[in-house]
Amino acid sequence: MGGDLDTAPSTRRGPGGPPSEGLEKTPSMASLVSNQPTRSCVPLPSPRRARARTGGALVTATVVLAVFVLPGLLEAQPTAAATSRPTQARPAPGSLSDTRALAGWWDASHTTFPAPPLITHSLVVERLRALNESDPRFFPLEEIGRSVENRPLLAVTVGRGPTHVLLWSQMHGDEPTATPALFDLLELLRVHRDAPPVARVLDALTLTIVPMLNPDGAERFERRNAQSIDVNRDALRLQTPEGHALKALRDRLSPAVGFNLHNQGWRTSLGDPPQPASISLLSVAFDKPLTDSPGRQLTRRLCVVIRDAIEPLAGTRIGRYSDEFEARAFGDNITRWGTPVVLIETGAWPGPDPDPPLVRINFVAIAAALDALATGRVAEADPQGYEALPLNDDRLLHTIIRNVTIVAGTGVPPFTGDVGVVAQRIVRGVDGLRRLGLLARIDDIGDLRTMGALDVVDGTGLTLAPLFLPGASPGQEVTLPDWTAVAPSPQTITVGQPAWFLLLRPIPATGALEDLATVQRYRVERVIAIGEADAGRRP
Ligand SMILES: [Zn+2]
Repeated sequence: MGGDLDTAPSTRRGPGGPPSEGLEKTPSMASLVSNQPTRSCVPLPSPRRARARTGGALVTATVVLAVFVLPGLLEAQPTAAATSRPTQARPAPGSLSDTRALAGWWDASHTTFPAPPLITHSLVVERLRALNESDPRFFPLEEIGRSVENRPLLAVTVGRGPTHVLLWSQMHGDEPTATPALFDLLELLRVHRDAPPVARVLDALTLTIVPMLNPDGAERFERRNAQSIDVNRDALRLQTPEGHALKALRDRLSPAVGFNLHNQGWRTSLGDPPQPASISLLSVAFDKPLTDSPGRQLTRRLCVVIRDAIEPLAGTRIGRYSDEFEARAFGDNITRWGTPVVLIETGAWPGPDPDPPLVRINFVAIAAALDALATGRVAEADPQGYEALPLNDDRLLHTIIRNVTIVAGTGVPPFTGDVGVVAQRIVRGVDGLRRLGLLARIDDIGDLRTMGALDVVDGTGLTLAPLFLPGASPGQEVTLPDWTAVAPSPQTITVGQPAWFLLLRPIPATGALEDLATVQRYRVERVIAIGEADAGRRP
């Protein structure tokens, strides 16, 4: 998704990347910050303004969005707010195996961040540096490499235990939910290091955390790194400096367990009727036959520990990621190299603000898993519970308008059906700020009873038309243009079109002759305008 952004870095490394020997502890991070590439300070360009010709009038997508689509467009927090932190220490959670205690602590004490897609590498560096400066010996920080565009790849270590655990997030730049959860974990360990449940984790484990492995991708909010390589398909060839650094770190630490933290697409569903796969877990395989091993037994048990911990928060929206072996991926190879890996994939969550519940669930999942490792409680988990988790499917839409009379705007006669919309998040630069938006389009039309959605609108007795009137509002009376006689609506209800609709309630005819003919009046029931339109960037 980097087409909008200036991708020319001020400093670019060759595909071989920096040498892995540069793995030095750097208690002072001042040099790192001064080495920030200039690109990160360059304001992002203005967004392209998608224009829609509606009813002879031109309106910009921005206007429509401002009126109707607030849930999809959240403004970046100003830096001051983004960097503020809770100043008062709250009581430590009584137990790290108790979901209520963990979630309650998170509610009261989680760190303040912008929405995860808006978290920048500079903010990650700033937070890690602050942790390091708060206690350099408790939070040693090191640069494990540099990204293609020369951004430092930072790892923070905490704990004094014999069992090493490696956690990394944002190997894919547009998969950020676990990143703030890791900072919440670090905050828990910082503030409550002497509280017994926390001290037990610190005594048993040594955690090494890489909160943002692919900062160049994160800068553009896209999956791949600046070479356009999917870092998670580079575990064998090691042509990405980011992958190279992760491999070198793994080889040096030989951790007992790894946590590979990702996001999965919002289409990912579970069960029937399909519901969001908000968290999917995987005990990562290390070969094609999916051979069992003590390491895989351990990660299966950890998945069960996580399921038990997050079930009170996520209910039945917890699933199992496909365990098909991917020969090029890091999780699979890190497991093969001797560090069994748990994959946590965060998916969709219904409602206008999906991030807080998902960050909270990630925090509880990771804290509970570490507690189970530290206490040995993991051995009590029944690995059979892992197989009982429902497998990921892909039958979730963003929105379905069900059982509605569709006037498509193309001139075809009205028909009854469901309209399904898909959406994905994007980050754009607007007036120098990073802004989170939503790209949406009509994905399917017809009988969509086998699909689920984050938002389901019952259209029974109603008519759905393209949003042909700019500024239409509920209660307004409208007459539909006769699209059989005039040119088709510039925007139609067909697959691939923007998800901007008028949901209309027919007004009963008065009995007058003209009302019984083709002229039909409607009252606007609801304006449904999901996301921005951008023909070049389909979800
Ligand atoms: Zn991923």
